[in-house]
Amino acid sequence: MYDLIIIGTGPIGAGAARHASATGANVAIIGPTEPHRASHTVWSSHYDAARLTHRSARNVQLAQYALEAITNYRAIEAQSGIPFYTPCGTLSLSHDLGEFSYTAQRTAIEQALDFRYVDYTPTTITHAFPMLSGDLGYHGVYDGPPSGYIAPRAMVAAQLTCAQHQGATIIRDIVTQLTPQHDGVTVTTHDGLTLHAQRVIVAAGAYSGLCGLLPTPVPHTIKSETVTLGRVSAATAARMADMPSMMVDCVSEVISDAYLTPPLQYPDGEWYFKLGSNSIHDLFFDTLPALQHWIKNGDMDATHHAQIALLKQLFAGVEWLDFTSLPCVITRTPDGVPSISNVHPRVTAVVGCNGSLAKSGDTIGRVAVEFV
Ligand SMILES: Cc1cc2nc3c(=O)[nH]c(=O)nc-3n(C[C@H](O)[C@H](O)[C@H](O)COP(=O)(O)OP(=O)(O)OC[C@H]3O[C@@H](n4cnc5c(N)ncnc54)[C@H](O)[C@@H]3O)c2cc1C
Repeated sequence: MYDLIIIGTGPIGAGAARHASATGANVAIIGPTEPHRASHTVWSSHYDAARLTHRSARNVQLAQYALEAITNYRAIEAQSGIPFYTPCGTLSLSHDLGEFSYTAQRTAIEQALDFRYVDYTPTTITHAFPMLSGDLGYHGVYDGPPSGYIAPRAMVAAQLTCAQHQGATIIRDIVTQLTPQHDGVTVTTHDGLTLHAQRVIVAAGAYSGLCGLLPTPVPHTIKSETVTLGRVSAATAARMADMPSMMVDCVSEVISDAYLTPPLQYPDGEWYFKLGSNSIHDLFFDTLPALQHWIKNGDMDATHHAQIALLKQLFAGVEWLDFTSLPCVITRTPDGVPSISNVHPRVTAVVGCNGSLAKSGDTIGRVAVEFV
Protein backbone atom coordinates (compact mmCIF):
# COMPACT_ATOMS: atom_id res chain seq x y z
CA MET A 1 0.00 0.00 0.00
CA TYR A 2 1.25 3.49 -0.90
CA ASP A 3 1.08 6.33 1.60
CA LEU A 4 -0.08 8.60 -1.21
CA ILE A 5 -1.19 8.20 -4.82
CA ILE A 6 -1.33 11.32 -6.97
CA ILE A 7 -3.53 11.21 -10.07
CA GLY A 8 -2.29 13.49 -12.85
CA THR A 9 1.23 14.23 -14.06
CA GLY A 10 0.75 17.93 -14.80
CA PRO A 11 2.52 20.83 -13.06
CA ILE A 12 0.37 20.45 -9.93
CA GLY A 13 0.49 16.65 -9.62
CA ALA A 14 4.22 16.63 -10.34
CA GLY A 15 4.70 19.40 -7.77
CA ALA A 16 2.74 17.39 -5.21
CA ALA A 17 4.89 14.31 -5.99
CA ARG A 18 8.08 16.34 -5.53
CA HIS A 19 7.00 17.73 -2.17
CA ALA A 20 5.41 14.53 -0.82
CA SER A 21 8.38 12.33 -1.75
CA ALA A 22 10.75 14.80 -0.03
CA THR A 23 9.10 13.87 3.29
CA GLY A 24 10.06 10.21 2.87
CA ALA A 25 6.48 9.11 2.15
CA ASN A 26 5.90 6.15 -0.19
CA VAL A 27 4.42 8.01 -3.18
CA ALA A 28 3.12 6.93 -6.60
CA ILE A 29 2.05 9.37 -9.30
CA ILE A 30 -0.09 8.17 -12.22
CA GLY A 31 -0.61 9.81 -15.60
CA PRO A 32 -0.08 8.99 -19.27
CA THR A 33 2.78 10.20 -21.45
CA GLU A 34 1.74 12.91 -23.90
CA PRO A 35 -0.51 11.22 -26.47
CA HIS A 36 -1.14 12.12 -30.10
CA ARG A 37 -3.85 14.76 -30.25
CA ALA A 38 -5.86 12.79 -32.81
CA SER A 39 -6.06 9.61 -30.74
CA HIS A 40 -5.89 10.86 -27.15
CA THR A 41 -8.15 9.76 -24.30
CA VAL A 42 -7.12 12.49 -21.84
CA TRP A 43 -5.21 15.66 -22.77
CA SER A 44 -3.76 18.37 -20.50
CA SER A 45 -3.57 22.14 -20.12
CA HIS A 46 0.24 22.24 -20.23
CA TYR A 47 1.21 20.52 -23.52
CA ASP A 48 2.99 23.51 -25.03
CA ALA A 49 6.43 25.12 -25.38
CA ALA A 50 5.84 28.04 -23.02
CA ARG A 51 3.76 29.40 -20.17
CA LEU A 52 4.13 32.90 -18.74
CA THR A 53 5.46 33.15 -15.21
CA HIS A 54 5.03 36.37 -13.25
CA ARG A 55 4.24 38.00 -9.94
CA SER A 56 1.30 39.89 -11.47
CA ALA A 57 -1.87 38.14 -10.33
CA ARG A 58 -5.52 38.65 -9.57
CA ASN A 59 -4.79 38.78 -5.84
CA VAL A 60 -1.92 38.75 -3.34
CA GLN A 61 -2.22 35.06 -2.46
CA LEU A 62 -1.87 34.00 -6.10
CA ALA A 63 1.11 36.34 -6.47
CA GLN A 64 2.72 34.76 -3.40
CA TYR A 65 2.11 31.26 -4.77
CA ALA A 66 3.78 32.32 -8.02
CA LEU A 67 6.79 33.91 -6.33
CA GLU A 68 7.36 30.83 -4.16
CA ALA A 69 7.34 28.65 -7.28
CA ILE A 70 9.61 31.03 -9.21
CA THR A 71 12.04 31.05 -6.29
CA ASN A 72 12.28 27.24 -6.49
CA TYR A 73 12.79 26.94 -10.28
CA ARG A 74 16.60 27.08 -10.27
CA ALA A 75 16.84 24.45 -7.51
CA ILE A 76 14.51 22.12 -9.42
CA GLU A 77 16.56 22.64 -12.60
CA ALA A 78 19.78 21.89 -10.70
CA GLN A 79 18.44 18.79 -8.93
CA SER A 80 16.91 17.34 -12.10
CA GLY A 81 19.45 18.54 -14.66
CA ILE A 82 16.53 19.78 -16.82
CA PRO A 83 16.39 23.52 -17.70
CA PHE A 84 12.95 25.10 -18.16
CA TYR A 85 13.04 28.73 -16.94
CA THR A 86 13.75 32.02 -18.77
CA PRO A 87 13.50 35.17 -16.61
CA CYS A 88 12.85 37.71 -19.39
CA GLY A 89 10.26 39.79 -17.49
CA THR A 90 6.55 40.24 -18.19
CA LEU A 91 4.89 43.33 -19.66
CA SER A 92 1.18 44.07 -19.10
CA LEU A 93 -0.53 46.39 -21.58
CA SER A 94 -3.87 48.08 -21.01
CA HIS A 95 -5.76 51.27 -21.74
CA ASP A 96 -6.91 51.16 -18.09
CA LEU A 97 -4.41 49.34 -15.88
CA GLY A 98 -6.64 49.85 -12.82
CA GLU A 99 -9.31 47.68 -14.45
CA PHE A 100 -7.05 44.97 -15.91
CA SER A 101 -7.25 41.79 -13.81
CA TYR A 102 -3.47 41.33 -13.75
CA THR A 103 -2.61 44.91 -12.70
CA ALA A 104 -5.62 46.04 -10.63
CA GLN A 105 -4.01 44.67 -7.42
CA ARG A 106 -0.50 45.92 -8.23
CA THR A 107 0.00 48.14 -5.15
CA ALA A 108 -1.01 45.39 -2.72
CA ILE A 109 1.22 42.91 -4.57
CA GLU A 110 4.19 45.30 -4.58
CA GLN A 111 3.86 45.73 -0.82
CA ALA A 112 3.36 42.05 -0.04
CA LEU A 113 6.16 40.81 -2.33
CA ASP A 114 8.48 43.80 -1.76
CA PHE A 115 9.29 44.82 -5.32
CA ARG A 116 8.30 47.65 -7.67
CA TYR A 117 6.77 47.51 -11.13
CA VAL A 118 8.06 49.90 -13.79
CA ASP A 119 5.42 52.10 -15.43
CA TYR A 120 5.34 53.20 -19.06
CA THR A 121 3.14 55.68 -20.88
CA PRO A 122 2.01 55.07 -24.49
CA THR A 123 4.96 57.23 -25.52
CA THR A 124 7.75 55.83 -23.34
CA ILE A 125 6.73 52.22 -23.91
CA THR A 126 7.87 52.11 -27.52
CA HIS A 127 11.31 53.41 -26.55
CA ALA A 128 11.68 50.75 -23.87
CA PHE A 129 10.24 47.96 -26.03
CA PRO A 130 11.14 48.84 -29.64
CA MET A 131 9.77 45.53 -30.95
CA LEU A 132 6.23 46.91 -30.32
CA SER A 133 4.34 48.92 -32.92
CA GLY A 134 4.65 52.66 -32.35
CA ASP A 135 1.02 53.72 -32.21
CA LEU A 136 -0.64 51.24 -29.85
CA GLY A 137 -1.83 53.71 -27.22
CA TYR A 138 -1.45 51.24 -24.37
CA HIS A 139 -0.05 52.03 -20.93
CA GLY A 140 2.40 49.43 -19.68
CA VAL A 141 3.44 47.88 -16.39
CA TYR A 142 6.67 45.90 -16.45
CA ASP A 143 7.21 43.07 -13.97
CA GLY A 144 10.90 42.41 -14.55
CA PRO A 145 12.95 39.28 -13.82
CA PRO A 146 12.42 36.89 -12.06
CA SER A 147 9.18 36.97 -14.11
CA GLY A 148 9.39 35.60 -17.66
CA TYR A 149 8.33 32.22 -19.02
CA ILE A 150 8.77 28.51 -18.38
CA ALA A 151 8.75 25.50 -20.70
CA PRO A 152 5.94 23.53 -19.01
CA ARG A 153 6.70 20.11 -20.47
CA ALA A 154 10.31 20.44 -19.32
CA MET A 155 9.26 21.76 -15.91
CA VAL A 156 7.01 18.75 -15.35
CA ALA A 157 9.83 16.41 -16.45
CA ALA A 158 12.12 18.17 -13.96
CA GLN A 159 9.61 17.94 -11.11
CA LEU A 160 9.03 14.23 -11.83
CA THR A 161 12.77 13.56 -12.01
CA CYS A 162 13.21 15.17 -8.58
CA ALA A 163 10.33 13.10 -7.21
CA GLN A 164 11.81 9.92 -8.69
CA HIS A 165 15.24 10.70 -7.17
CA GLN A 166 13.44 10.99 -3.83
CA GLY A 167 11.85 7.54 -4.23
CA ALA A 168 8.50 8.27 -5.91
CA THR A 169 7.11 5.73 -8.39
CA ILE A 170 5.90 7.10 -11.74
CA ILE A 171 3.19 5.00 -13.39
CA ARG A 172 2.36 5.85 -17.02
CA ASP A 173 -1.34 4.99 -17.15
CA ILE A 174 -4.84 6.50 -16.98
CA VAL A 175 -6.94 6.10 -13.85
CA THR A 176 -10.40 4.79 -14.66
CA GLN A 177 -11.81 4.36 -11.16
CA LEU A 178 -11.20 5.67 -7.68
CA THR A 179 -12.92 3.88 -4.79
CA PRO A 180 -12.49 5.35 -1.30
CA GLN A 181 -13.04 2.93 1.61
CA HIS A 182 -12.80 3.31 5.38
CA ASP A 183 -9.23 1.90 5.49
CA GLY A 184 -7.77 3.30 2.25
CA VAL A 185 -8.42 4.15 -1.39
CA THR A 186 -8.38 1.74 -4.33
CA VAL A 187 -7.33 3.05 -7.71
CA THR A 188 -7.79 1.09 -10.92
CA THR A 189 -6.24 1.94 -14.26
CA HIS A 190 -6.84 1.56 -17.98
CA ASP A 191 -4.00 -0.99 -18.22
CA GLY A 192 -5.54 -3.17 -15.49
CA LEU A 193 -3.56 -2.16 -12.40
CA THR A 194 -5.26 -2.14 -9.00
CA LEU A 195 -3.39 0.02 -6.49
CA HIS A 196 -4.05 0.90 -2.86
CA ALA A 197 -3.12 4.00 -0.88
CA GLN A 198 -3.82 5.61 2.45
CA ARG A 199 -4.57 8.89 0.69
CA VAL A 200 -5.09 10.20 -2.84
CA ILE A 201 -4.58 13.62 -4.42
CA VAL A 202 -6.60 14.18 -7.60
CA ALA A 203 -4.83 16.65 -9.91
CA ALA A 204 -6.01 15.58 -13.34
CA GLY A 205 -6.82 19.07 -14.60
CA ALA A 206 -9.94 19.31 -16.75
CA TYR A 207 -10.37 15.53 -16.50
CA SER A 208 -10.80 15.21 -12.72
CA GLY A 209 -14.56 15.66 -12.97
CA LEU A 210 -14.99 14.16 -16.43
CA CYS A 211 -13.23 10.87 -15.48
CA GLY A 212 -15.28 10.29 -12.31
CA LEU A 213 -12.38 11.07 -9.96
CA LEU A 214 -14.26 13.45 -7.62
CA PRO A 215 -16.35 11.56 -5.00
CA THR A 216 -17.96 14.90 -4.16
CA PRO A 217 -18.47 17.47 -6.96
CA VAL A 218 -16.35 20.63 -6.91
CA PRO A 219 -17.96 23.67 -8.60
CA HIS A 220 -16.02 24.47 -11.76
CA THR A 221 -16.43 24.91 -15.49
CA ILE A 222 -14.33 23.45 -18.29
CA LYS A 223 -13.67 25.95 -21.06
CA SER A 224 -12.11 25.83 -24.49
CA GLU A 225 -9.06 28.02 -25.03
CA THR A 226 -7.72 28.87 -28.48
CA VAL A 227 -4.13 29.81 -29.22
CA THR A 228 -2.57 31.07 -32.42
CA LEU A 229 1.01 30.26 -33.35
CA GLY A 230 2.57 32.88 -35.61
CA ARG A 231 5.55 31.40 -37.46
CA VAL A 232 8.54 33.64 -38.08
CA SER A 233 12.05 33.09 -39.43
CA ALA A 234 14.95 32.23 -37.12
CA ALA A 235 16.38 35.68 -37.96
CA THR A 236 13.17 37.42 -36.84
CA ALA A 237 13.14 35.33 -33.67
CA ALA A 238 16.74 36.33 -32.93
CA ARG A 239 15.87 39.99 -33.49
CA MET A 240 13.01 39.70 -30.96
CA ALA A 241 14.99 37.69 -28.42
CA ASP A 242 14.92 40.48 -25.81
CA MET A 243 11.15 40.60 -25.77
CA PRO A 244 9.35 40.03 -22.45
CA SER A 245 6.35 37.75 -22.22
CA MET A 246 3.18 39.84 -22.36
CA MET A 247 -0.41 40.19 -21.20
CA VAL A 248 -2.69 42.48 -23.18
CA ASP A 249 -6.02 43.89 -22.07
CA CYS A 250 -7.00 44.14 -25.72
CA VAL A 251 -9.98 46.00 -27.10
CA SER A 252 -11.76 43.64 -29.48
CA GLU A 253 -15.29 42.49 -30.16
CA VAL A 254 -14.12 38.87 -30.19
CA ILE A 255 -11.18 38.34 -27.80
CA SER A 256 -10.09 39.59 -24.37
CA ASP A 257 -7.29 39.01 -21.84
CA ALA A 258 -4.66 38.04 -24.40
CA TYR A 259 -1.25 36.69 -23.43
CA LEU A 260 1.77 35.94 -25.54
CA THR A 261 5.26 34.62 -25.34
CA PRO A 262 8.36 35.71 -27.31
CA PRO A 263 9.17 33.68 -30.43
CA LEU A 264 10.38 30.25 -29.31
CA GLN A 265 11.60 27.17 -31.11
CA TYR A 266 8.90 24.47 -31.04
CA PRO A 267 9.46 20.71 -31.29
CA ASP A 268 9.13 20.90 -35.12
CA GLY A 269 12.25 23.12 -35.20
CA GLU A 270 10.31 26.21 -36.34
CA TRP A 271 10.04 29.54 -34.46
CA TYR A 272 6.64 30.76 -33.28
CA PHE A 273 5.06 33.58 -31.33
CA LYS A 274 2.20 32.16 -29.28
CA LEU A 275 -0.88 34.25 -28.50
CA GLY A 276 -3.89 33.01 -26.54
CA SER A 277 -6.98 34.74 -25.20
CA ASN A 278 -10.53 34.40 -24.04
CA SER A 279 -13.05 34.61 -26.87
CA ILE A 280 -16.77 35.13 -27.30
CA HIS A 281 -16.62 31.84 -29.22
CA ASP A 282 -15.27 29.85 -26.24
CA LEU A 283 -17.15 26.63 -25.49
CA PHE A 284 -17.95 24.90 -22.20
CA PHE A 285 -17.83 21.11 -21.79
CA ASP A 286 -19.58 18.77 -19.39
CA THR A 287 -18.81 15.38 -20.96
CA LEU A 288 -15.55 13.64 -21.84
CA PRO A 289 -16.57 12.98 -25.50
CA ALA A 290 -17.41 16.68 -26.01
CA LEU A 291 -14.00 17.76 -24.72
CA GLN A 292 -12.23 15.02 -26.71
CA HIS A 293 -14.01 16.21 -29.87
CA TRP A 294 -12.83 19.80 -29.25
CA ILE A 295 -9.20 18.83 -28.58
CA LYS A 296 -9.11 16.61 -31.69
CA ASN A 297 -10.98 18.87 -34.12
CA GLY A 298 -11.36 22.38 -32.69
CA ASP A 299 -13.47 24.95 -34.51
CA MET A 300 -11.58 28.13 -34.05
CA ASP A 301 -11.62 30.25 -37.17
CA ALA A 302 -13.40 33.30 -35.74
CA THR A 303 -11.13 33.45 -32.68
CA HIS A 304 -8.06 32.68 -34.80
CA HIS A 305 -8.68 35.68 -37.10
CA ALA A 306 -9.02 38.05 -34.14
CA GLN A 307 -5.81 36.67 -32.60
CA ILE A 308 -3.92 37.08 -35.89
CA ALA A 309 -5.17 40.68 -36.11
CA LEU A 310 -3.87 41.40 -32.60
CA LEU A 311 -0.44 39.89 -33.35
CA LYS A 312 -0.17 42.02 -36.48
CA GLN A 313 -1.30 45.10 -34.57
CA LEU A 314 1.23 44.59 -31.75
CA PHE A 315 4.21 43.83 -34.01
CA ALA A 316 3.81 45.82 -37.21
CA GLY A 317 7.45 45.27 -38.19
CA VAL A 318 7.34 41.47 -38.14
CA GLU A 319 7.26 39.41 -41.34
CA TRP A 320 4.84 36.55 -40.59
CA LEU A 321 5.38 33.28 -42.46
CA ASP A 322 2.04 31.68 -41.52
CA PHE A 323 -0.40 31.16 -38.66
CA THR A 324 -1.70 27.98 -37.02
CA SER A 325 -4.52 27.62 -34.52
CA LEU A 326 -4.66 25.06 -31.71
CA PRO A 327 -7.54 23.96 -29.46
CA CYS A 328 -6.72 23.83 -25.72
CA VAL A 329 -8.64 23.54 -22.45
CA ILE A 330 -8.70 25.25 -19.06
CA THR A 331 -10.86 24.99 -15.94
CA ARG A 332 -12.43 27.81 -13.94
CA THR A 333 -13.75 28.07 -10.39
CA PRO A 334 -16.46 30.61 -9.47
CA ASP A 335 -14.03 32.82 -7.49
CA GLY A 336 -11.11 32.53 -9.94
CA VAL A 337 -8.75 30.84 -7.47
CA PRO A 338 -7.87 27.14 -7.33
CA SER A 339 -10.02 24.95 -5.11
CA ILE A 340 -7.98 22.64 -2.85
CA SER A 341 -10.38 20.59 -0.76
CA ASN A 342 -11.07 17.19 0.73
CA VAL A 343 -13.71 15.61 -1.48
CA HIS A 344 -13.62 12.57 0.84
CA PRO A 345 -11.77 12.11 4.16
CA ARG A 346 -9.03 10.28 2.18
CA VAL A 347 -9.15 12.19 -1.11
CA THR A 348 -7.89 15.75 -1.74
CA ALA A 349 -8.76 17.41 -5.07
CA VAL A 350 -7.13 20.38 -6.75
CA VAL A 351 -9.55 21.90 -9.24
CA GLY A 352 -9.53 25.13 -11.23
CA CYS A 353 -6.31 26.20 -12.91
CA ASN A 354 -8.18 29.31 -14.08
CA GLY A 355 -5.79 29.47 -17.02
CA SER A 356 -2.82 30.62 -14.99
CA LEU A 357 -1.35 27.96 -12.70
CA ALA A 358 1.37 26.23 -14.68
CA LYS A 359 3.85 28.71 -13.23
CA SER A 360 2.68 28.02 -9.66
CA GLY A 361 2.07 24.30 -10.05
CA ASP A 362 4.91 23.41 -7.73
CA THR A 363 3.52 25.61 -4.95
CA ILE A 364 -0.06 24.42 -5.43
CA GLY A 365 1.29 20.86 -5.23
CA ARG A 366 2.94 21.72 -1.90
CA VAL A 367 -0.29 23.19 -0.55
CA ALA A 368 -2.22 20.08 -1.63
CA VAL A 369 0.28 17.81 0.14
CA GLU A 370 -0.04 19.88 3.34
CA PHE A 371 -3.83 19.62 2.99
CA VAL A 372 -3.68 15.80 2.96
C1 LIG B 1 -3.55 27.83 -23.88
C2 LIG B 1 -3.20 27.91 -22.44
C3 LIG B 1 -2.34 28.90 -22.02
C4 LIG B 1 -1.99 29.00 -20.68
N1 LIG B 1 -1.11 29.96 -20.28
C5 LIG B 1 -0.63 29.95 -19.02
C6 LIG B 1 0.42 30.82 -18.66
O1 LIG B 1 0.89 31.62 -19.47
N2 LIG B 1 0.91 30.74 -17.39
C7 LIG B 1 0.42 29.84 -16.49
O2 LIG B 1 0.92 29.79 -15.37
N3 LIG B 1 -0.59 28.99 -16.81
C8 LIG B 1 -1.11 29.03 -18.05
N4 LIG B 1 -2.10 28.16 -18.41
C9 LIG B 1 -2.70 27.29 -17.40
C10 LIG B 1 -1.82 26.10 -17.08
O3 LIG B 1 -1.38 25.45 -18.22
C11 LIG B 1 -2.60 25.21 -16.14
O4 LIG B 1 -2.93 25.98 -14.99
C12 LIG B 1 -1.80 23.98 -15.71
O5 LIG B 1 -1.44 23.19 -16.79
C13 LIG B 1 -2.65 23.18 -14.74
O6 LIG B 1 -1.89 22.12 -14.27
P1 LIG B 1 -2.60 20.78 -13.77
O7 LIG B 1 -1.50 19.93 -13.27
O8 LIG B 1 -3.72 21.12 -12.85
O9 LIG B 1 -3.34 20.19 -15.05
P2 LIG B 1 -2.82 19.70 -16.46
O10 LIG B 1 -1.68 20.50 -16.95
O11 LIG B 1 -4.02 19.63 -17.32
O12 LIG B 1 -2.28 18.24 -16.18
C14 LIG B 1 -3.20 17.23 -15.80
C15 LIG B 1 -2.56 15.91 -16.06
O13 LIG B 1 -3.46 14.89 -15.61
C16 LIG B 1 -3.42 13.82 -16.54
N5 LIG B 1 -4.71 13.09 -16.44
C17 LIG B 1 -5.92 13.50 -16.87
N6 LIG B 1 -6.82 12.56 -16.61
C18 LIG B 1 -6.18 11.54 -16.00
C19 LIG B 1 -6.59 10.28 -15.50
N7 LIG B 1 -7.86 9.86 -15.55
N8 LIG B 1 -5.64 9.47 -14.95
C20 LIG B 1 -4.35 9.87 -14.87
N9 LIG B 1 -3.91 11.07 -15.33
C21 LIG B 1 -4.83 11.89 -15.89
C22 LIG B 1 -3.20 14.46 -17.88
O14 LIG B 1 -2.61 13.54 -18.77
C23 LIG B 1 -2.28 15.64 -17.53
O15 LIG B 1 -0.94 15.32 -17.73
C24 LIG B 1 -2.52 28.07 -19.74
C25 LIG B 1 -3.38 27.06 -20.17
C26 LIG B 1 -3.72 26.98 -21.51
C27 LIG B 1 -4.61 25.88 -21.97
